[in-house]
Order: sequence, then C-alpha cells, then structure tokens
Amino acid sequence: MICKIASLPGDGIGAEIVPEAIKALQAVGRKYGHEFIFTEALIGGAALDAVGVPLPEETLRLCRESDAVLLGAIGGPKWDNLPVHLRPEAGSLLPLRKELGLYANLRPVVLYDALIDASTLKKEVIQGTDILVIRELTGGLYFGEKKREQTPTGQIAVDTLVYTTEEITRIARLAFETARKRKKKLCSVDKANVLESSRLWRETVTELGREYPDVELTHMYVDNCAMQLVRWPKQFDVIVTENTFGDILTDQASMISGSLGMLASASIGGKVALYEPSHGSAPDIAGQKKANPIATILSAALMLRYSFNLEKEAQDIEKAIVRVLDKGYRTADIMQEGGILVNTEEMGDRIAEEILEAK
Ligand code: NAD
Repeated sequence: MICKIASLPGDGIGAEIVPEAIKALQAVGRKYGHEFIFTEALIGGAALDAVGVPLPEETLRLCRESDAVLLGAIGGPKWDNLPVHLRPEAGSLLPLRKELGLYANLRPVVLYDALIDASTLKKEVIQGTDILVIRELTGGLYFGEKKREQTPTGQIAVDTLVYTTEEITRIARLAFETARKRKKKLCSVDKANVLESSRLWRETVTELGREYPDVELTHMYVDNCAMQLVRWPKQFDVIVTENTFGDILTDQASMISGSLGMLASASIGGKVALYEPSHGSAPDIAGQKKANPIATILSAALMLRYSFNLEKEAQDIEKAIVRVLDKGYRTADIMQEGGILVNTEEMGDRIAEEILEAK
C-alpha cells in the first residue's frame, strides 16, 4: 500500500515527537511492505515566523492532497499576545479542522497496566479503564461568533455557543455507531440545566437514540461528568460531547492513563483525517528531549486503523508500546521507581525496534 502523509510538526515539542511517530510508521512499512511517503509543511507559530501566516495556503493544499495528516502541536508564549487571527490555535488548527471538515475528534482514554502507578489516582479506581471520548470539533463555543467592545465602564467580551440539529445529529450518529462496535453504552454530556444549546443537544441525541435501541443511552451534566471521571471512570464506554467540554474533560481524563503524553487523537469526518496527540506544544519542556512521544505514536496507530484500514499494523504499534512499557522504559512524565529513564528519541527507537521484532 502507498500512503501519502502530510507531516506538520508545528511548535514546541512538535518537532521532537513527530519524527518518533514517523519512525514507528516506517518500521510498520518495512515490516509489511507499505510505502509511507511523508511531506513536511509549516503550521502554527513556526509558519507565522517563516512566512507571516499561521496556516499557509501551501500547507492547506498539501493536507487536502494527502491521504492523512500527522500533526505535532502548535502554539507557545511567543505568539500569545498577537491578534486572534494570527494566534496559532485560532489562526491555524481551528481553520485547518474546519477546512478539512473534521467534525469529530476521537480520544481513547486507555490505561496501560504498566502505568497504573504513574497515575495520581488509586489503582482500584482506574484499573481496566477504556473510554472513547468523541468531541464535536467544528462547532460549539470555539467556533461561535466572538466580539469585544468598549463600554463606558470597561469592556465587554462575548463568545457564542451555537449548534444546529444537523451538527448534533452528525456527531451523535457517529457516537451511536461507535458505541455499537464497543460495549454499547453511550453517555451524552451537556449542560442542559443551563444552556439552550445543550437542551437542543439532549433532545436531538434522545430522538436519534430511538434508532439505536441496542445502545444504552444516558445523559450527564458536564460538571457531574468531571467528577464521575475521577470517582469511577469504568462506568463509561463512549462519551459524546460539545467541543469545549470535550477539550477539558479529556485533559482531565488523561491523568487516568498517567500523563497527557499518553493521550492520542483522531480527527475524522472529511476526506482526509488528521492525527495528533491531545496535548499542546509543552513549551516548558520543549528542546529538552523530555517529551513523551507515545501519544503521537498512538495517533499514528489510529491513522493506520481509521485512514488506511490496517488493523493488524495498528495493533502492532499498540502492542509494541505495551512491551516497551512492560520492559520498564519511561520518559520523565511517567517515570516511576525502578523505571529506566529514556529521552524522546530513545523511547521512539525502543518502540520501532519492538514493532520490527514482534511476530
Ligand atoms: P500542554 O498540553 O502543552 O502542556 C500541559 C502540561 O503537560 C505541561 O506541563 C507539559 O510539559 C505537559 N505535557 C504535554 N505534553 C507532554 C508530553 N508529550 N510529554 C510530557 N509532558 C507533556 O498545554 P499548555 O501548557 O496549556 O499549552 C502550551 C501551548 O500549547 C499553548 O500555546 C496552547 O495554546 C498550545 N496547545 C496546543 C494544542 C494543539 O496543538 N492541539 C493543544 C493544547 C494546547
């Protein structure tokens, strides 16, 4: 199989973690005879510095013409005070998702047994956690109209949270279909006691649920969900929720798996899907070779699964990660007593070796 992949390292640790995911994909390619062709392009602050815009037309074209996109992370303090359209997140990642029609962000929250002690949560609470959070990605609070105005006494700032029935139905249908292939449990998370958009969300999801009698549908307020995720995460199978809620809940849920550096994501819905770790550019550790590349390598596994239908190859990557963790190799964020501390590149090397060695 020949696959064209747009590689967008971006900012901060992006340039350190993306090469490790490429290494894993190349190991898969060598093992199974697939050809992965990577073309690198600029995005985020790196693009802004080089060509004056955070999402160059050339990058967008490359993404559209590729079979999948592998992204590192964007943003950092250097660009924080720029006008909003130039800021890496608002000026590159959000429009890229919108342009590619990526309305669904899938974030698996899985705990690897080897990392049980890396979590700040109790072992008996988190053991066996396997949740898939489906976050709506091109609507909601992040995409609604924003404005700022001067008033006689100061300023007024407005963000709007807009959803249409079509947008909710689209993401909910994906969630029901996904739940059907898992444990058939779907929890829809909203704030219907306060927000009108959430009331429409709840009505629409409930209505659609009639088409899926085999899927057990529950509704939960987002504040309760935040609490339930740390109280008893095993109660969840698939969670579907609004853009901002999903962003916040998955950062919180990442601690179940030990670190933000373990949380992969797939953004799907359009012709070309995008794969990236759930974390940001981690400016506090950038350039120090401390970043955990596993979230990005797991995102590459999701690419094999969702974009190329290469299930065995995806599992090879996931199993290689389990074996490397079982052997005790740890980056600093998941380091435990008795672990073998490795840097970003060494972790990538160990995983690539395991991919090649495993039967
Ligand atoms: P962050 O996710 O970058 O970092 C939060 C904490 O987690 C930091 O202490 C960081 O060191 C740690 N961390 C994150 N990834 C790690 C990894 N792979 N290995 C080890 N430790 C890791 O969030 P932040 O600090 O709030 O944001 C930093 C920048 O990233 C901001 O400019 C923000 O806008 C941007 N951001 C980008 C994305 C994206 O590209 N999708 C997502 C979130 C934040």
